[in-house]
Amino acid sequence: MSRIPKSLVRRTGWPSSTSRPVVTPLQTSVVYASPDPDALDQQYEHGTGYTYAREGHPNADVLAAKIDMLEGAPDLFEAAGIVTGSGMSAVGATFLGLLKQGDHVVGGDQLYGRTLRLMTQDLPKLGIETSLADPTDARAIEAAIRPNTKMIVVEVISNPTIRVADMEGIAQIANARGILLVVDNTFTTPRLYQPFAHGADIVIHSVTKLLAGHSDVTLGYVACKDPEHRTLIDTANASWGMTPSPFDCWLAERGMHSFDLRFDRAQATATRLADALAEVSGVTRVIYPTRPDHPDHNRAMGLLGGRGGNMLSFELVGGRAAANAMTRAAPDVAFAPTLGDVGTTLSHPASSSHRALTEADRTALGISEGFFRVSVGIEEPDLLIEEMVNSAQAAS
Ligand SMILES: *Cc1c(COP(=O)(O)O)cnc(C)c1O
Repeated sequence: MSRIPKSLVRRTGWPSSTSRPVVTPLQTSVVYASPDPDALDQQYEHGTGYTYAREGHPNADVLAAKIDMLEGAPDLFEAAGIVTGSGMSAVGATFLGLLKQGDHVVGGDQLYGRTLRLMTQDLPKLGIETSLADPTDARAIEAAIRPNTKMIVVEVISNPTIRVADMEGIAQIANARGILLVVDNTFTTPRLYQPFAHGADIVIHSVTKLLAGHSDVTLGYVACKDPEHRTLIDTANASWGMTPSPFDCWLAERGMHSFDLRFDRAQATATRLADALAEVSGVTRVIYPTRPDHPDHNRAMGLLGGRGGNMLSFELVGGRAAANAMTRAAPDVAFAPTLGDVGTTLSHPASSSHRALTEADRTALGISEGFFRVSVGIEEPDLLIEEMVNSAQAAS
């Protein structure tokens, strides 16, 4: 039994028990008490214990270890991944930790919207040059390289047009020239693609999306091949205060118990849904990697092992009016600009992620007013497909 406390302020001892909890404990402590200054020296110099939650805490490390395992990280190198307060802080900490004034970065021209903004607006303010190029064409990426190029940043599947990057070509170019290859693996997840096995130096995730999977936490992850890079990113993450909350890490780790099952179910439904939507007369095109009419079909089949993931896009012939009718006809499918939730979500890039672009720029990307992106969830497949097909028909 625990001791009877002598004061309300003194911490009550934790009851002793020969059994142990089955579930990962949630450790919310901000500070950790050490036995004496010698022990504190050991903690700082050899990482023998936690000191302060901004510098690291058990729930972040438990979560990181799970993602490390999925990414094949422990087989490749010693340094474990770092959990950050959001996907954007994983991107931000990578940039802040590894880049300096005068460096140049090449990014894919269809990166996640905030990452694009960081590249085009924020990095230049720090004296870091950036260029964007089409990642489906490794020669375009190569042409953007300058003598001071330090890093190439790509996503495997583009948002929202579901194009598949030439990862093999880009990795060859980056590896041959000693340029760091950073892969944001959020859309693909390690279930579809493992960047470290294909020449990546750094892997980033928005854990917020498919990995945590329940739309109730905002978290990120970054892992590096080189332990020195890890130290630099970890330091940036702590110094700029981008570290995660223990509770969020706890929730995400809990969500990850079912990640494989969720992913496989959503993917199987997405494959069926893509074919079903393609049959609807008012649907002009469906973009899904395993469909033979996908613009990067052969590459996608090779890179993704014949699987297509849970994301697809489609276009209604009737423009904005049809888009309004579609979302109203499918009230159980959340019309919300996110992805990776247990429930299917529908997003309309022209009015959300790509609203800042001119119509001409959107048209060049193939994003019309009738264009939707779908993040397929894990609801009953027949029910979902019926709802989606009926609402697309109603909107046609
Ligand atoms: C959502 C997302 C991010 C940003 O993640 P947050 O957790 O929302 O900060 C970065 N990259 C990709 C590909 C994303 O989908």
